[in-house]
Amino acid sequence: MPFSEFGLEEGILRAIKKVGYARPTPVQVAAIPKVMQGDDITAIAQTGTGKTAAFVLPMLHRLSLQKAENKLHGTLALILAPTRELAIQITESIHSYGRHLSIRVAAIYGGVDENSQIRAARKGANIIVATPGRLIDLLGRHKLDFSRLEVLVLDEADRMLHMGFLPDIETIVAALPKRQRRQTLMFSATFPREVESLAKRFQHEPKRVQVGAKNNPADTVKQAVYEVPPHLKDAMLLALLKDEAFARVLVFVRMKDGANRLTEILRKEKISVTRLHSGRTQEKRIKALADFKSGAVRVLVATDLAARGIDIDGVSHVVNYDFPVNPEDYIHRIGRTGRAEHEGEAVSFVPKGDLNLLGILEMAIGQRLPRKKLRSFDYYAKSPAIVIPPAKKDWRKRTREREVSKPQKPATRPAKKVGKKFPKSR
Ligand code: AMP
Repeated sequence: MPFSEFGLEEGILRAIKKVGYARPTPVQVAAIPKVMQGDDITAIAQTGTGKTAAFVLPMLHRLSLQKAENKLHGTLALILAPTRELAIQITESIHSYGRHLSIRVAAIYGGVDENSQIRAARKGANIIVATPGRLIDLLGRHKLDFSRLEVLVLDEADRMLHMGFLPDIETIVAALPKRQRRQTLMFSATFPREVESLAKRFQHEPKRVQVGAKNNPADTVKQAVYEVPPHLKDAMLLALLKDEAFARVLVFVRMKDGANRLTEILRKEKISVTRLHSGRTQEKRIKALADFKSGAVRVLVATDLAARGIDIDGVSHVVNYDFPVNPEDYIHRIGRTGRAEHEGEAVSFVPKGDLNLLGILEMAIGQRLPRKKLRSFDYYAKSPAIVIPPAKKDWRKRTREREVSKPQKPATRPAKKVGKKFPKSR
């Protein structure tokens, strides 16, 4: 089925041609006609399936019709996304698909100066893409007007709930026109009970769109497990990176400190690497992603902040350096590769202590992951074959020195909390 059969506005079709999509993906085929009819939809689609275009294209179509009749005034659409990165990415997609339409878009997310965002919204943004935290802050101060809103999108709904945004989302939705008077589109990679309850409360007779098996990782991703002792994970990663097929590699770790430490180790081994976690400033997070996307660096070490929604073309490998604590995170992480029907590989390091997590995952996805052994790797080495950087304080200081261009006063860090095993790292 070609894109032209949806009846999308001509400027949108030209933009699609320009980005080079030959035909719609399955979620687009299933969702676009329903959204164009004005139905509410609950779409369960794995990451990387093209779901952003599935809601952005019909939204642009609706707005461009109003524009043609000179009726486009104020904010007609609101898209809520869990992370700043995803909000930025959706905004970029809107700019790209809407390049031939003069529709105004504003992105509202935390971590950066709010004034320019308020100005953009008040200047008449027709679409606002936002993370719930910053949006609720501006709503509370009456900086935004949603009285004309027609379309609400909740993207990565499961993720937003997981991140504790439910009260914020409820407050935001209460400030919008009633559900019978708006179109509500919900996208979620998984469909736990909490998401179902959200759909019941926020949507009006929604149609269900489901592409691919629920809770199963993308079919295009080849998966493998390496059982490796914890003290040899660095050496294992370095051994894998000797293979040039590992061209663009996203490495997931559980904690911010772990990301810093591993980045430093890889740098020492002359591997071009950057890192993404919530302890970095928004500017540095944006730069890290941009460097990885452009191919300026080969490896991105990230916490689960990068696991959802982030679209990076051509990620050859996802490495679960630290095994994810729950199956949903695994599905999202490996969804960063094998996107839009490209091949990708996901490898997971599983020390003995994490075998129970692997078991839980395999039950959840209903398949046993292939075990692999790396030839000529010494699984019985007593100590790491590589040099671990000295005391934490020293390498942190060095990392800071490299990143900070002008002299700053020494940063003070709060004392580390004791007894918290997995601090929130987003
Ligand atoms: P998403 O799931 O929205 O994050 O999209 C994943 C990737 O698929 C992005 O790189 C999109 O540019 C790409 N994409 C979206 N729709 C299509 C399509 N119809 N054909 C090829 N690639 C697409």
